[in-house]
Amino acid sequence: MLSLDTNIQFLKGVGEKRAQLYKKLQIETIGQLLYYFPRSYLDLTQTKDIADCHAGEIAAVRAFVTAKSREQHIRKGLSVFKLKISDDSGPMNVTFFNAKYTVDSLQIGEEYLFYGKITSGGLTAPMIFPTDGPTKVIPIYPLTQGLSSKTISSAVQQSLSLIDEQLPDPIPQSLRQQYSLCHLHYALCNIHLPSDPDAVEIAKRRLIFEEFFTLALSLASVKSRHSSGTSYSCPDTDLSAFYSSLPFAPTGAQKRAIEELCRDLGASVPMNRLIQGDVGSGKTLVAAAGICIACQNGFQAAMMAPTEILAHQHFESLSRLLEPLGLRLQLLTGSMSQKEKILAKQRILAGEVDVCIGTHALISDDVSFSKLALVITDEQHRFGVAQRAKLSGKSENCHTLVMSATPIPRTLALMVYGDLDVSVLDELPPGRQKIDTFVISSQKRAAAYGFIREHLDRGLQAYIVCPLVESGEADLGLLNASDYAADLAAKAFAGYKVGLLHGKMKAKEKEQVMEQFKNGEIQLLVSTTVIEVGVDVPNAVIMMIENAERFGLSQLHQLRGRVGRGKEKSTCILVSDNRQEDTRERLNMLHKTNNGFEIAEYDLKTRGPGDFLGMRQHGLPQLKIADLSSDMQLLMQAQEAAQAVLAHNVPMTEDEHQHLTQAVRAMLRGVGSRPN
Ligand code: ADP
Ligand code: MG
Repeated sequence: MLSLDTNIQFLKGVGEKRAQLYKKLQIETIGQLLYYFPRSYLDLTQTKDIADCHAGEIAAVRAFVTAKSREQHIRKGLSVFKLKISDDSGPMNVTFFNAKYTVDSLQIGEEYLFYGKITSGGLTAPMIFPTDGPTKVIPIYPLTQGLSSKTISSAVQQSLSLIDEQLPDPIPQSLRQQYSLCHLHYALCNIHLPSDPDAVEIAKRRLIFEEFFTLALSLASVKSRHSSGTSYSCPDTDLSAFYSSLPFAPTGAQKRAIEELCRDLGASVPMNRLIQGDVGSGKTLVAAAGICIACQNGFQAAMMAPTEILAHQHFESLSRLLEPLGLRLQLLTGSMSQKEKILAKQRILAGEVDVCIGTHALISDDVSFSKLALVITDEQHRFGVAQRAKLSGKSENCHTLVMSATPIPRTLALMVYGDLDVSVLDELPPGRQKIDTFVISSQKRAAAYGFIREHLDRGLQAYIVCPLVESGEADLGLLNASDYAADLAAKAFAGYKVGLLHGKMKAKEKEQVMEQFKNGEIQLLVSTTVIEVGVDVPNAVIMMIENAERFGLSQLHQLRGRVGRGKEKSTCILVSDNRQEDTRERLNMLHKTNNGFEIAEYDLKTRGPGDFLGMRQHGLPQLKIADLSSDMQLLMQAQEAAQAVLAHNVPMTEDEHQHLTQAVRAMLRGVGSRPN
């Protein structure tokens, strides 16, 4: 008997060479092979009569071979075979290209299943299956170089015939019963070699459940919240000095969020709170209030931002808010010199710093705090679960605050953050004007440039954003930021100060450019999406985005959020020559609304979770079969089951417990860190 841990080289037909190919698919054991699921299936249970086949459709036909032509050489390297087949309803021609081996194996007078596209000339290059094969639903595997779907399928078949029917199931029997889930053995057999389409569904449901279930348990184990108490309770929550030093009055939403923060920080259990607010809603101010409280109670606070630019900006704005109150702030980023970093770390450890603001550099192992009470992660979706956990891990049972402009459905939030409280900033600071948004074609670009120049002449500033262009794509009419900037500086914006910002620049260079843009030395900033998160220059009032169709709506909304931050009327211009109706409609959505939540919902509906709810961004492992947006009901059931397990409400044998623990560990290896 094979176990799931057996190396796949044990299988016949899998030698060292093939094992290497499998390794590329992260398949080294029988278990990993069996969890490599088909991408789709060919359903041969529904065959069509030849007379009912229409050109253009994909069909399965069950027919006898009546005649075979000789090989015809069309030109060098291309030969054609013709076949006549027929069923009770009539005859049909079949054409094959370069398929001598396939055609030779077919016998005149024998019946086969043909599956493929019907054209006006009959069937072209169909797949062929025996009529008495083991299964009529054929699995199709995602292909990689050198491993065909058939090869994988036969390795899978071999494995299935060799594994124990009683193989260890990570879902305890009591839960299988409660949620009507089949046993793992049945699921694996029928996801790969289904007897009929219904069996696929039964298998799928169980495997999706399993994936959500182990994911929920894994996440629970990395979550930063501890049920034990905190030694960082902050009883002094008097913010009057903070409020009176503010240059503006906080919005009602900010006040509410700050009050919730005060309550949390004053309690004797660690805070775990998410601040969700659209771009420009003023999340930084709420964070500042939290920092203020932690520090006036004698503790330290740390804030992590996803980019250097953003870390710098936070350092500056928080310094403005907090230095007058006597707090000592420290910046810590990867681009600082060794010497600066060492000095900063010494100060942090010695408690000579109250607030530390930085990038990923903050979570490196050699950074230690003396009395860290509050950790804040800005733009949380840019960080992996493990990275956030690592920051919290710098101090046992400290308070955590995450901030996000990306709205996440409640169930997903639960899954990603666990049991967490949410404050919503549903109000923009006063005086903000709606950002007018227009979609134009590139023919109108010259006019748009004129519009931008008028604003620059009035002392205002503007951004032009280009999507990231891979080499070779430039031919497609896509604009490359550096060439584009050079062209603008020479022509349309000759005499104006044009700057360039892109991801490949050194951190120091980026910083310098941002500094120049902030103090007005640069009037027009041409950039890739590096400015997407958080950058705040209130004097910039126009955001023009090239090849807008290449972005997700939420991302466009984030980019647009870079303007409309001051008193001046702001404009967003989306340039796209894509005439497809759904693209037009999508872009038009930005013209219609400025509400980030509405936009995110639309994005989710039309594009799926990929962009902004994508696992990548949440630092979740790549799921093999489950889909976070469409399998919502199963997700909730699995979540419920996981909670029952955590509360010790699920009867389990010693063995079952062990199988489950193993599955969770395997999943945890995938819960990694993944910035950007
Ligand atoms: P985000 O929620 O996108 O992170 P920020 O915290 O960067 O927003 O705030 C956006 C801008 O609004 C900043 O320039 C900030 O100084 C300003 N701001 C924040 N709160 C207020 C307020 N209550 N009144 C006026 N301006 C505010
Ligand atoms: Mg922000």
